[in-house]
Amino acid sequence: MRELNFISTGKLDWIERNDPELITGDDAIVRPIVVSRCDGDTLPIHHRVSRAMQAGLKAGAIDPAVGSICGPVPFQGPFAIGHEAIAEVVETGAFVQNLRVGDKVVVPWSVSCGRCGTCRRGLTSKCITARDGRTLAAFGFGPASGHYGGMVSDLFRVPFADHMLVPLPVGLDPLRVAAASDNLSDAWRTVVPHLRARPGANVLVLGGGGKSIGLYAAGLAAAHGASVVDYVDSSPQRREVAASLGAVAHQRSGKPAANPGYDIVVEASSTTSGIRKAIRATAPGGICTAIGYYVGTNTGIPLMHMYANDITLHLGVSHPRAVLPELLDWVHKNNFPAEKVTSHLADFDDAPRAYAEHTTKLVLHRPALFQA
Ligand SMILES: [Zn+2]
Ligand SMILES: [Zn+2]
Repeated sequence: MRELNFISTGKLDWIERNDPELITGDDAIVRPIVVSRCDGDTLPIHHRVSRAMQAGLKAGAIDPAVGSICGPVPFQGPFAIGHEAIAEVVETGAFVQNLRVGDKVVVPWSVSCGRCGTCRRGLTSKCITARDGRTLAAFGFGPASGHYGGMVSDLFRVPFADHMLVPLPVGLDPLRVAAASDNLSDAWRTVVPHLRARPGANVLVLGGGGKSIGLYAAGLAAAHGASVVDYVDSSPQRREVAASLGAVAHQRSGKPAANPGYDIVVEASSTTSGIRKAIRATAPGGICTAIGYYVGTNTGIPLMHMYANDITLHLGVSHPRAVLPELLDWVHKNNFPAEKVTSHLADFDDAPRAYAEHTTKLVLHRPALFQA
């Protein structure tokens, strides 16, 4: 079978592997029908970061957590890439009870057991069992985060399958929730719980770094009753998508500076200047969630400003497994058009070329499989 591998900056290719096999009775083998490219995957694909990160880790300028997730030479190819997929179950282990061959499921990017203390608290991406001492247990980040392979593969094995695999609601187009495994769930946690706690709050999204996450967040905020959603991005195409999802779109140097502050801020520019700007745009008592990778050890977070204004800054990996059932149900019932964020839809077979493209959100599909 084919497995998409990151080779080096700008270069990806299929590598032939043996078909995956069930290792324990709790495993399932799945075949992806729709996969999409996480915003984070573009970092090594579009930027030559590997050597600079290796040097930065040695010099202490880059946080050691990067090495614990990606290895001492971060993003050193080849490694299997991809961690957003809707898949079809093709085989189940002897102890799997909830799944049948042919079921369509969402596969979360991180591996979790569903039974340990952190899983029960909803912190599924920090599952104690699956991580087994590692920082993360995940698909598509290379061996430092476990030997799970990537999701842009003809087949892959999913451990703890009964818990891990979340059924796609009947009638929900997999293309609509192509990013549910990661980026859509990530966006959900930045705005939905906070808007439920503060109905009608105003929202600012700084976009352009986590390109799809910022757009999903803007759309989810508008659909959850935010009084205003200001979306800031230098890209006219993304501003157009944000506006179509109900946000008011601005260029980078636009209007938000004049605002007295936002109750909810989403930092999706994925820059340290962005995170500082986002914190200073947060209203007293507000919450700012930053979804980017901030790898440097010196980020200049304005702590005194946060203290003086009671600002909460939330950083952390997303925990898709914990929110997926609710998210999928809500998207389905409310016809939330998440597919508007998809800027390029390509055939699964074209993955090596398409995955390297400079586009906001790449989705790959196998129409012959999921329309059958
Ligand atoms: Zn991701
Ligand atoms: Zn667990």
